[in-house]
Amino acid sequence: MPDEILCDDQRRYIEYLQEKMLDPLWIAVFEQSRWADWSAYLVKRAERLYPEIFESKDPNVLALFDPKKAPYDTKFELPTTIADFGSRLADVKRAADLLGIKTNGNILLATSTDISPSPSSLPTTGDHLIFAGLGTSLYCNYWSKAITAIVTAIQPVLGLDRVLVSADIRRVFEADPSGIILAARLALYYAHFGTIIGFGEVNEPINKTGYRVLLLRAMEIFAVAHEYAHCVVGEKLPHSSGQLDSSESIDLENLCDEIGLLLSREVGNFYEDYLLFVGIGPLIFFRTMQICEDVREQIACSESHELSFNKRRISSGSHPVTESRVEALKNQIYLKTAVEQRENATLFVEEYDRILIEVLREVKESVSSMLNDKNSSSSS
Ligand SMILES: [Zn+2]
Repeated sequence: MPDEILCDDQRRYIEYLQEKMLDPLWIAVFEQSRWADWSAYLVKRAERLYPEIFESKDPNVLALFDPKKAPYDTKFELPTTIADFGSRLADVKRAADLLGIKTNGNILLATSTDISPSPSSLPTTGDHLIFAGLGTSLYCNYWSKAITAIVTAIQPVLGLDRVLVSADIRRVFEADPSGIILAARLALYYAHFGTIIGFGEVNEPINKTGYRVLLLRAMEIFAVAHEYAHCVVGEKLPHSSGQLDSSESIDLENLCDEIGLLLSREVGNFYEDYLLFVGIGPLIFFRTMQICEDVREQIACSESHELSFNKRRISSGSHPVTESRVEALKNQIYLKTAVEQRENATLFVEEYDRILIEVLREVKESVSSMLNDKNSSSSS
């Protein structure tokens, strides 16, 4: 939280919430002291791989590589939070300003100590809090790598043809399986740990980085925009921040998805970024969560003892189920797009979703055959 000076009460309250969110098994990840070694390693690696980012002297980037420069307001505040989400929140605020839905209260960004992919927010009558952190940024980073590997493998196989049927994308998986293999590994890791934190290094061909960074931005902007929407709604409808029954919470989540998409599109406008504009970020976020949760369910239900490890299901709780979230998203994209752009936008989103549904099918099929092999070898 570099721009905001916190009073002691605020700092103590944030730290208290961070402590409550923290799973004791993951405490090492959120200990500032361990970040010094990691930063030193990162500096060497980044200087070698991306010399230009050091030349850019972007203060957010430099803070990431120099933990001493990071503003540590609480004992769980990590330098990555502001590097990952500071500019995302600034973009969302700017979009909200342009759309006339700016919050009256300040928004403070704090490190989430929750390992799950979703950030969270705490609308109040004064300043609002948005907690975001490694759970979200790593989830978006790794999945955007997998989806980039899949999407960029299409053109060499299909040329300029669109992906119309599932057989088209299966030919792509056969020609270059790197993306689908990564997707399956991510889903299995998530099924075990309930997070993508700690997955390890994934090398990416340098020519794919540009597209991946766009997907990453589209996903992270929507994640922050959805939480920003909670703060806006919290001001307009103060009772929405209290206890809600399940249908009221689903309505609230749908409303925040709708506002989140609106904000993402506005950010897309000022970057001239079509992926942001047509809502590819939330589409990937929802569908990959569905892949992760479905694989978790498959394994939890399997009869194989070694694999039925973590039966604890991390459910999205009050969030509407994926299918209805995706349908609502597509409907909004259709309604909010100008008539002359509507057909292209719809075709693009439908094609993207066709690809993601095929990734879901392929990953589940591989996990299923892996579980069958396991069962037949343990019974023989
Ligand atoms: Zn929400």
